[in-house]
Amino acid sequence: MSTKTLIIGAGGVGNVVAFKCAMNADTFGEITLASRTKSKCDAIAANVETKVGVKIHTAQVDADSVEELVELIRQVDADIVINVALPYQDLTIMDACAACQVDYLDTANYEHPDEAKFEYKEQWARDQLFREQGIMGLLGSGFDPGVTNVFVAYAQKHYFDEIHTIDILDCNAGDHGYPFATNFNPEINLREVSAKGRYWENGKWIETEPMEIKQVWDYPEVGPKDSYLLYHEEMESLVKNIKGLKRIRFFMTFGESYLTHMKVLENVGMLGIEPVEHQGQQIIPIEFLKTLLPDPASLGPRTKGKTNIGIVAHGIKEGKERTIYIYQISDHEKCYEEVMSQAVSYTTGVPAMIGAKLMLEKKWYETGVHNMEEFDPDPFMEELNVQGLPWKVMELESPSDLRVDK
Ligand code: NDP
Repeated sequence: MSTKTLIIGAGGVGNVVAFKCAMNADTFGEITLASRTKSKCDAIAANVETKVGVKIHTAQVDADSVEELVELIRQVDADIVINVALPYQDLTIMDACAACQVDYLDTANYEHPDEAKFEYKEQWARDQLFREQGIMGLLGSGFDPGVTNVFVAYAQKHYFDEIHTIDILDCNAGDHGYPFATNFNPEINLREVSAKGRYWENGKWIETEPMEIKQVWDYPEVGPKDSYLLYHEEMESLVKNIKGLKRIRFFMTFGESYLTHMKVLENVGMLGIEPVEHQGQQIIPIEFLKTLLPDPASLGPRTKGKTNIGIVAHGIKEGKERTIYIYQISDHEKCYEEVMSQAVSYTTGVPAMIGAKLMLEKKWYETGVHNMEEFDPDPFMEELNVQGLPWKVMELESPSDLRVDK
């Protein structure tokens, strides 16, 4: 009996997952792509059929409704659900998977629609339920979270007896030619970068103002870039799972023009998540802004340049201090050539496919709800090299070796 795979969400990431699952059809079997807007699924399926020669089924679903999801999962008879809709749908999709006893995977942790806040609490709370139902949930199988967690597990396994500090670096040096656009869902992206920063040191979380801490890192093959400290979800699970850790931070690159646009939008209230009345109608400012901004999926053909995402890990090996940078470089234009999406969607969609592949092959399989660093990193790292995300390891002199403003 062939495997049946259900992908939910037909945005930039859904497009890449559909392509990559089709390219690995031996593992994924019969593939169905479902989303709120069926025409988007049909357009992706047509491109996959033309470029890869694999037929994908499509369906309409409101992923906010557990009943609709249960009906769809049963209809498809899915063995796994890959959730690449929005973080707001994580809990409903998890609950539908539990009701149908089907494995679950996502790339971003649950976010409260009414509060700009994301955390694993609600998803981890479903661990017992998933165990009872005999199914697995893999959380955060994108790039960051996702590959960054696997990089940490790989560093831990092969390079260190103890890791003391981790800096996660996310550099996107791509240029799409628009004055302002976001590389993935604008609502999620803008909520993330306008929130307060946070990092973990000596057993506690330290909060910063949004964009308060700036450092300049010299990214291999990209060059020096302004990088800002943000809170990012993989830190929550890494703090729990990596023993001996003393500090973990996350930095993302932003250009001056992007930040100026953000500041202006924030100052005029366009990033608001509370409804406002406009000519007798209730509108949510950030949702209206999303309507105005270019669709991230449309950036693909226009984006040039590279991404460099990695982790600087510092610690002890056989009594001596050691620092390494494990990183991956993607080229926006090459990604588009292969799967008709830019590198931000590509670097998220490929790891989602790899996580699902390892689950279906039972190389990564344990009932309950899990984060990426809990599994043996080696098979995932091997797949990254094969599936389009080759990585490198660089030995550094110190944790600040790549910084130009130290
Ligand atoms: P998009 O906004 O491009 O796509 C989201 C898709 O989900 C759209 O097709 C949308 O439908 C669909 N959707 C939204 N709500 C519902 C619903 N209620 N029912 C059914 N479908 C729905 O986002 P991206 O593709 O850029 O991102 C997808 C996910 O990947 C997000 O969760 C994002 O946070 C995550 N991500 C993770 C990264 C990582 O490295 N871990 C990096 C980047 C993104 P419609 O077309 O009708 O709007």
